[in-house]
Amino acid sequence: MYPELKLFVAGEWRTTGSDMPVVNPANEDELGRLPCASAKDLDDALEAAVKGFRIWRNTSPRERSDTILRAAALLRERQEAIARSITLEHGKPLKQARLEVIRGAEFFEWDAGEAMRTYGRIIPAAPGHKFAVHHQPLGVVAAFSPWNFPMSQPARKIAGALASGCSIILKAAEETPAGALHIAKAFEDAGLPAGVLNLVFGRPSEISGYLIPQDAVRLVAFTGSTSVGRHLTTLASQHMTPVLMELGGHAPVIVCEDTAIDEAAEAGAIRKMRNAGQVCTSPTRFFAHERIFERYAEKFVERAAATVVGNGMDDAVEMGPLANERRVPALTDLVEDARAKGAIVATGGARQTDRGYFFQPTVLLNVPDNARIMREEPFGPVAVVNPVSSLDEAIHEANSVPFGLAGYAFTNRADYIDRLIDEVEVGNLSINTLEASMPETPFGGVKSSGYGREGGSEGLENYMTVKHVWHSTHIS
Ligand code: NAD
Repeated sequence: MYPELKLFVAGEWRTTGSDMPVVNPANEDELGRLPCASAKDLDDALEAAVKGFRIWRNTSPRERSDTILRAAALLRERQEAIARSITLEHGKPLKQARLEVIRGAEFFEWDAGEAMRTYGRIIPAAPGHKFAVHHQPLGVVAAFSPWNFPMSQPARKIAGALASGCSIILKAAEETPAGALHIAKAFEDAGLPAGVLNLVFGRPSEISGYLIPQDAVRLVAFTGSTSVGRHLTTLASQHMTPVLMELGGHAPVIVCEDTAIDEAAEAGAIRKMRNAGQVCTSPTRFFAHERIFERYAEKFVERAAATVVGNGMDDAVEMGPLANERRVPALTDLVEDARAKGAIVATGGARQTDRGYFFQPTVLLNVPDNARIMREEPFGPVAVVNPVSSLDEAIHEANSVPFGLAGYAFTNRADYIDRLIDEVEVGNLSINTLEASMPETPFGGVKSSGYGREGGSEGLENYMTVKHVWHSTHIS
């Protein structure tokens, strides 16, 4: 069920001299060995990507689009096999893995359409002169995708690069390599020219440290933590290489006094536990108006505590394990710190079993401002539910962290919504829903959540540069 892991370089699959284990987080069994790229493998990938770029940039947008659509269709066809390998390596429930495969295919389909719409502009000029703005692909992209969505995260980066006419070397997450591997296979089968897409694995700092300084690399695209994003941005800036950074979030949820309390609480608790909270847009800091706080918190805790936790292969399971072992002590520390500072641990708060990286669905109430979790993203199934006395206070709390990726609010009051739109500092604001993005909507952050956008009609901008051409009919 789990694929054999290989690098994909210059259109060929290869193994390497060193490897590391890939582990099923639900039972800690070894699933396979991940080949780690050597400097020679990376050099080969760079050479292939440079050649691939020459071919791909000279391929018509329609042909590029058609190739991407063929690959997307293959991913849809292979949905079940891909979903099963995602659940094995990541732990998420199989039904969520199936949806992730479809979402990944949708990212490709959206960007395939956008490939045909990278319009330029004509600027009025004096007679005998023409001013034209062209959008052109940047070149070779070095991309780094994380482990929380093994298929849709690499899909975002590969889709943006290929639709723009760039070539790409993707380092997918070492914990969850199979999603990206299935994508590379689909593109190979769809007839993508060799070298346009290269997939490597290995130790992250070695690969980013080697690739980013290379002259051939014209964009660094990363999704992951703010600290790693900052490190990669610093490295890229030494070479004046632009970056696309989709980093951490710590999403606030403002629950106003006019909302339907039970429905909002249930939606919040379910959404918080999706993907075991390992989502950059995961709702985490819930601020409920004090008039409804008690009932909201009670319903929230009740639903969170009822979450069915277990092996994602089991149909009834709503939440799987954490994707890697290091997140277990990280979450335990955050919960213990909050407890020590006076928070109420209303449910959960600890590792669930000895085998597998399971963590209990956890709700913390009345968490004081000085608790670490009020500033640090838990990236796990831990919610903070606090009372606030006004919309002013809620907006102040929402904006009090260095992050600004997603934000949510529950209200039907037009005057509140007006203020939320103007004042909440995030790249994605959702009202009365905890969905944050679709392929057709631009996604990205402000503040320490990064810069650049993926998806929407803005999504290809980061992968392209603007060239102005001044054509004069006479020498002047
Ligand atoms: P981490 O900071 O060690 O790693 C995050 C990701 O970056 C991993 O995929 C890792 O392979 C990659 N990475 C790490 N060092 C790198 C380097 N030098 N060069 C290139 N890539 C590198 O954190 P973690 O323990 O894996 O995850 C926890 C934190 O990561 C969370 O707090 C969360 O903020 C963040 N995260 C965010 C997303 C997201 O979707 N924005 C996804 C995964 C993790």
